[in-house]
This record gives sequence, C-alpha cells and structure tokens, in this order.
Amino acid sequence: MRDYEAERKRMVESQLRGRGICDPRVLAAMEKVPRHRFLPDPDDAAAHGDHPLSIGSGQTISQPYMVALMTECLHLAGTERVLEIGTGSGYQAAILAELSGRVVTVERLASLADGARQVLADLGYANVEVEVGDGSFGWPDNAPYDRIIVTAAAPEIAEPWTDQLADRGRLVAPLGDRGGQTLTVVTKRAGKLRHENLCGCVFVPLVGEHGWQEN
Ligand code: SAH
Repeated sequence: MRDYEAERKRMVESQLRGRGICDPRVLAAMEKVPRHRFLPDPDDAAAHGDHPLSIGSGQTISQPYMVALMTECLHLAGTERVLEIGTGSGYQAAILAELSGRVVTVERLASLADGARQVLADLGYANVEVEVGDGSFGWPDNAPYDRIIVTAAAPEIAEPWTDQLADRGRLVAPLGDRGGQTLTVVTKRAGKLRHENLCGCVFVPLVGEHGWQEN
C-alpha cells in the first residue's frame, strides 16, 4: 500500500522547507491536503514530484513549491476572504481553505470546475465556492476580498482585481507574457498600490477579456 502521507512529508521537507518556505501554517496545510486526490489519476507516481502536472484540457496543477510560495506571500491568518482566479484541479483552493475564512475560486472551463467542486466536497471543504466564468473580471458578487491569488499568467493586473481588493489587501499573480512571467505581489493601502517582484515563473495563460485570446 502506498503511503501518501509519507510522500507528502518528504515533499514538504525537501521541496518546501529545504527551499526556504517557513510559514508553519503553510507547511502544515501542504502536509495535510491529499494532493493526489486532485489529479486525474490519483495513483500517478509523480503526484508529489517537483514540477507541475497535466490535469487535462491543456491545463496544469502547479509545482508544490509554487503553491507554497504563492500561499506564503498572501500572509493568511485564518479569517480572510480569498479570491482565486484559475481553479484548475482545486488543489490550491483546498490549501487556501485550510488557511483562511472563505474562498471563492473562479474557473473558465466548466469541466475542470465540476471536477474540483466534487473533490473539494468529498474532502469536506465547506468554505469554498467554485464558480465558472472569466476570472479576469474577478468575481464582483462577493467582493471585497482580503486576498486575491491569480494562478494563470496575466499580461498585467486587471483593474477589476484591484477594485475588488479590500484596503490593506494583498494580491499575488504571475505577470508578463505568454512564455514567461514574474511572480508579483501587489499590496493596497489607502487606495494606493505597491508592486513587488519576487521571481520568474511560467504559468498557463489567463484566457479572457483582461487576459489573452484562446490561441
Ligand atoms: N490553481 C490550479 C492550477 C491553475 S492552472 C490548481 O491548483 O490546480 C490555471 C487555470 O486557470 C486553468 O484551469 C485555466 O483553465 C484557468 N483559467 C485560464 N483563464 C481563466 C480565466 N479568465 N478565468 C478563470 N480561469 C481561467
């Protein structure tokens, strides 16, 4: 019998703690959430590999380190209202659900949204809402959000996102062109936005009004 818990422990030690992720709540969530359940094939031997994995429809579940880094950047204390753009498998949403008050996650592809909604429900996450739509418009119905995380590559920060970000809020997004981006943290204080660049990264494109066209 495969020991998924032991695999996650090793993933956290070598890929996350070993590379400087130090928020104990983030490390604990990554150790707890069953990553393999969010994959098209839960038996995939590469479930905890140090790389992104295909989840079908041309999309990917991010590398564990990228999930941890982006989550750590959000500085979650436990009560925040969080918006995620790009649900994909739902794995990042589960990590956010462990660490915040309420999560709204938006996915443009209904098939992926349905899959994510199902796994999140099976695992008992009652504080996550999966919505289908163009997340480049954010999700105005539940705004404002204390935190926004964009997990698809965007050409720039879409205005609806900063409009829907609460004062003292934080947003993390990969910004750049289709082939490569810079992980960027934006903070909002008294209506003023501050940008901080973290590192290079490569995400699948945000497809929509404030993103790119399909091809
Ligand atoms: N966070 C995901 C990985 C995201 S991959 C996880 O944990 O698995 C990026 C996702 O963004 C893809 O599923 C893609 O379909 C979605 N996406 C792309 N453009 C979008 C848009 N405009 N609105 C919502 N989702 C979008």
